Amino acid sequence: MSIRNVLVVNAGSSSLKFMLFDMEAEQMLAKGQVERIGIENPLFTFTAGDYSEKQNLCDAPDHTAAVKLVCDALIDPAKGGCLKSFADIDAVGHRMVHGGELYSESVLLTPEVLEAFEKLSPLAPLHNPACLQGVKGCQAVLANVPHVGVFDTAFHQTMPEESYLYALPKEIYKQYGVRKYGFHGTSHKFVTLRMAEVLNKPLDEMNIITCHLGNGSSITAVKGGKCFDTSMGMTPLAGVMMGTRAGDIDPAVVLYLLKNGFSADDIDAMMNKKGGVFALGGTGSSDMRDLCSACDAGKPEAQAALARLVHSYAMYIGGYAALLGRVDAIVLTGGIGENSKETRAALLPAISGLGVTLNAEVNDTVRGIEKLISGSDSKIPVYVIPTNEELMIARETYAVTK
Ligand code: AMP
Repeated sequence: MSIRNVLVVNAGSSSLKFMLFDMEAEQMLAKGQVERIGIENPLFTFTAGDYSEKQNLCDAPDHTAAVKLVCDALIDPAKGGCLKSFADIDAVGHRMVHGGELYSESVLLTPEVLEAFEKLSPLAPLHNPACLQGVKGCQAVLANVPHVGVFDTAFHQTMPEESYLYALPKEIYKQYGVRKYGFHGTSHKFVTLRMAEVLNKPLDEMNIITCHLGNGSSITAVKGGKCFDTSMGMTPLAGVMMGTRAGDIDPAVVLYLLKNGFSADDIDAMMNKKGGVFALGGTGSSDMRDLCSACDAGKPEAQAALARLVHSYAMYIGGYAALLGRVDAIVLTGGIGENSKETRAALLPAISGLGVTLNAEVNDTVRGIEKLISGSDSKIPVYVIPTNEELMIARETYAVTK
């Protein structure tokens, strides 16, 4: 079977984002999302070529109806007419969040795989059931095409035990699967492969540190082209400070708060939704743009929050540099890494102990483009590489089904 058009789907519990790629040219043909699925007044956003509709009311009582809406738009001549019929969709790639220890690579979503994936739901109770709803909706509408699962955790499955094992009684790992898994794997893999091309180096000889810095952030040590360690843990709460997530804290803080009358739900919300930049920035926002504007306006609280954020990035980068020994490049990606010149201008001096220098003039001009931003005398080159998780999912889907 020849594969050309790949639909990439990223399903949440009430949303479904999609992109359609022509894989012969690796060209994006259409993209959009359905929001508020199963809730009052669902919304549909769709772009294909010159055609665009923004947040129009639609009918989406469930994920199957949402997928039907997407496919109908893809074949509608009045909406760009990317495809002639549903049969022109050759494969569907699904973003699957938590593959546990079962999946170190992308796989065809057979009934057995879906059953095994469902059993991993306790590890990602918010995300995995939503992914399954998306897969089932797609399989109902596009029954005769291969569906491929691409897992956020897969790239990190090469971590050795010394990286992933928590120092807890072994049965906690064996019985409950409590260990480090890591996330954003699709993005770390995308920029790793791109970095190998840019450096013109064989993947298996490449030691790099990839920093996916966005609303959620993670930093990964890539050794010989494979994940050696990563900052997120069993859940995406661990690691560096993030938009609304606290990142690493002393685990005893949780017990202390529980004993002082906070409920588990209070603490969960504090750590996941009310922490990070939102908690410390003093702007009432988790957005880096707001934090940087407040820094520019000379607000001390915002400046302290930026310093705290950058400190947490620098600690991981420094630690991973020590573990890797030789670092061929540091990669910055994600909404902050790609766009926030202020954050980058604060970060590079914070890792000057590694011999890193900043080319401030170039850094100021970089927004969403691939560029070397370190100085010519920098001991480690630092690159901004825009990530493209959807294209990575399309490539994986193409590779699995071809
Ligand atoms: P992500 O989760 O990867 O979409 O990244 C979201 C983060 O990127 C938010 O904190 C945004 O403020 C930040 N971001 C996006 N665009 C810009 C920009 N032009 N300048 C600074 N930060 C940005």
